[in-house]
Amino acid sequence: MTTDHTYRREIVKVGKMLHQRRYIAATDGNLSVRLDEDRVLVTPTGMSKGAMKTADMVIVDMDGRQIKGRRTVTSEIGMHLLIYRMRPDVRAVVHAHPRTATGFAAAGIALNQPLVCEVVIGLGQIPLAPYGTPGTPELAETLRPLIPDYDAILMANHGVVTYGADLMCAYMKMETVEHFAEITLVTRMLGQQQPLDCTNLEKLVEARSRYLGVNSAAPMPVFSENAEVSSMHMQTSTRNKPQRSNLRPRETASLLGN
Ligand SMILES: [Zn+2]
Repeated sequence: MTTDHTYRREIVKVGKMLHQRRYIAATDGNLSVRLDEDRVLVTPTGMSKGAMKTADMVIVDMDGRQIKGRRTVTSEIGMHLLIYRMRPDVRAVVHAHPRTATGFAAAGIALNQPLVCEVVIGLGQIPLAPYGTPGTPELAETLRPLIPDYDAILMANHGVVTYGADLMCAYMKMETVEHFAEITLVTRMLGQQQPLDCTNLEKLVEARSRYLGVNSAAPMPVFSENAEVSSMHMQTSTRNKPQRSNLRPRETASLLGN
């Protein structure tokens, strides 16, 4: 059985990885793990996530009340708790400011073009949530409509949040988002994008169930510019709500200036 201390060590390790990859600067970012139904282990505010010790983390209840730890909990705890409340399958959350993806978020551009097959399989698309003031309930509310459908979200003029079945899984999604942002940037520099068409998207979504790394409960709908909104979703999911996000094909096309 995994102990509290094992999770603390894992948060220390992933915090270092985020810092080494320059996904966070200074005291940016926050990470958490859901210990059980009532408790969340989370990083403190005001310290580098690359230099944490296991004793620095705090434990809060599902209402955000601190029940353990001498440091002060991250001001973004509301965002973590909202994700855990809306997604019982999620056991870990990572928030960071990786430069390329945050650049897209600061430019108001979602990473919603199906340009790379692995991203379609693992994340669908990465939508852009509207801006919300950090450290206030407003920030979490901007994410609310997107949390059920996606495992990675760009936060306008701010950064990225990813979440998954464990901390390493949530961290890997952060790497995928930043890598995909870099690739998308290259296509924009080349002045050309060739999104996957609907037929190939269907095949990729069907393939999700065969990939071990994809164990999300989110439907992760994908859209193709040259077709109707697809009803593609995880085969294991019974939900199908692709229309809820603000990322319809026509808007997607307009974002690209087409
Ligand atoms: Zn942030």
